[in-house]
Amino acid sequence: MITGKGIGVSTGVAIGKLKYQTNKLPRAEKRLITDVSAEIKRFESAKAKAATQLAELYVKTQKKLGEENSLLFQIHQMMLEDLDYNDSIIELIQNEKVCSEYAVQETGRKFAEIFSNMDDEYMKGRSADVKDVSDRVIRILTGLSFDDGMDSEPYILAAEDLSPSDTAQIDQDRVLAIVTSGGSSNSHTAIFARTMGVPAVIGVTDIPLSEYNGKEIAVNGSTGEIFVEPDAAVKEKLLQEMEKQRHLRQLWKQFQGKKTTTKDGRRVNLYANIGGPKDLKAVLANDAEGIGLFRSEFLFLERSTLPTEEEQFQAYRAVAEKMDGKRVVIRTLDIGADKQAESLHLPKEDNPALGMRAIRICLTRPEIFKTQLRALYRASHYGRIAIMFPMITSVEEVQRSKELCSQVKEELKQQGIPFSEDVELGIMIETPAAALISDELAQEVDFFSVGSNDLTQYTLAIDRQNSSLLPFCNTHHKAVLRMIQMSAENAHKSKIWIGICGELAADESLTETFMKMGIDELSVAPSSVLPLRMKISSISLK
Ligand code: PEP
Ligand code: MG
Repeated sequence: MITGKGIGVSTGVAIGKLKYQTNKLPRAEKRLITDVSAEIKRFESAKAKAATQLAELYVKTQKKLGEENSLLFQIHQMMLEDLDYNDSIIELIQNEKVCSEYAVQETGRKFAEIFSNMDDEYMKGRSADVKDVSDRVIRILTGLSFDDGMDSEPYILAAEDLSPSDTAQIDQDRVLAIVTSGGSSNSHTAIFARTMGVPAVIGVTDIPLSEYNGKEIAVNGSTGEIFVEPDAAVKEKLLQEMEKQRHLRQLWKQFQGKKTTTKDGRRVNLYANIGGPKDLKAVLANDAEGIGLFRSEFLFLERSTLPTEEEQFQAYRAVAEKMDGKRVVIRTLDIGADKQAESLHLPKEDNPALGMRAIRICLTRPEIFKTQLRALYRASHYGRIAIMFPMITSVEEVQRSKELCSQVKEELKQQGIPFSEDVELGIMIETPAAALISDELAQEVDFFSVGSNDLTQYTLAIDRQNSSLLPFCNTHHKAVLRMIQMSAENAHKSKIWIGICGELAADESLTETFMKMGIDELSVAPSSVLPLRMKISSISLK
């Protein structure tokens, strides 16, 4: 048995087979071949396998996420059969006597370049697709593992780190736990695991995870321990831990259907964070009183074209309708930093966390912003939607965003399209600048929501993705807590409400502090709703 240690970022225990996901393809070497016809056969057979995978993925995605989301795999199937693409690969094998993986790599690169140089935005977007298709064939040719969602057995997902777009591809029904060597407690891997309610351990650097592919491992998301091929004693201990968790879940269940109040009767809104309509099942099962953060950028990830107004409208409407009159705070596009969307074709930046991100993209490209705002206002007719702007640093940004909202409303009115006139507008307090001018910002909006993940990152100058900085990261730093307090005081002076939707909201060691600050709402991963309701009910403010 080998043991490893990382940081537990999502509680729970799991035992299962490890599946190491490597999404980074090494460069294919230019290997020369002698038997051309055997090599062409090798390519054809890999291509046939890729076609079968894509057809299966198309059906699977269509069933789970609908036609719009599955179309991508149909486009990939068509690309795989494209005559020019195939001719180019076969000519390289025949004329230059190179191995198939090299021929596919070079052809993919050439075609991707042609697409990305086109003027048409749609064709530009195909550049990433042709690379995706080529990577799929190369993986088959080289036998590299890749989670295609093709197996049916549940497994423990291990990786160096998971990008937000990787998480969008994960088959949530089969992942028992997540283990990564990188990441940090506020990284999207951690947030994703908590949303899914699966145990997760990040920052496991003392053992080489990639070498244990297929081996049985046990994960303790509370302690951060990993056991490769656990012995009977460890398994027994973990089974006891599972039993303890089961008992806790039963305790939490008693808070289902109850209002969230402190012991002495102060009411708090306890909401959930989601990435899209697929997370609603967990929200409803855990009895959240609303959605405090819908990270709408997830609709923009894992696809090469921008989601249309109609696609966005359908997603927002579905959430608003299912929440049945409860408040749904939808955050406008927060792309940038660790969340990159191919379809936006953003230039590479040296310092993306301080770069073209979130509201900065929206205000620079109002056509994208207005499409989203139209979809949001249209959806407001079907439920209680609130709109929230991320990464605000100035009053002007809020005023310009509000102006665009007014324009969109006017356009919808003229087109006779229904929308609600009562949509609340709010901002995230996630930069020190916003916290420090929260008195002025409070006069512009209906609510604040503290993004403690970024507020901590920007206040302490600590990259939230970098696990090696964890020893320096005090998530309870006074500077952050004072800014939250200051924002709460300013919000209440202007008679607006304030919530917290960053990961700190679920930190039970701060719940009492937040209640004393007068925080009106906490928005947490669905799996944290009931434990937090239980915690709040034990607090007395008198
Ligand atoms: C935050 O920064 O705390 C937040 C909630 O937003 P995100 O984690 O999506 O950046
Ligand atoms: Mg943020």
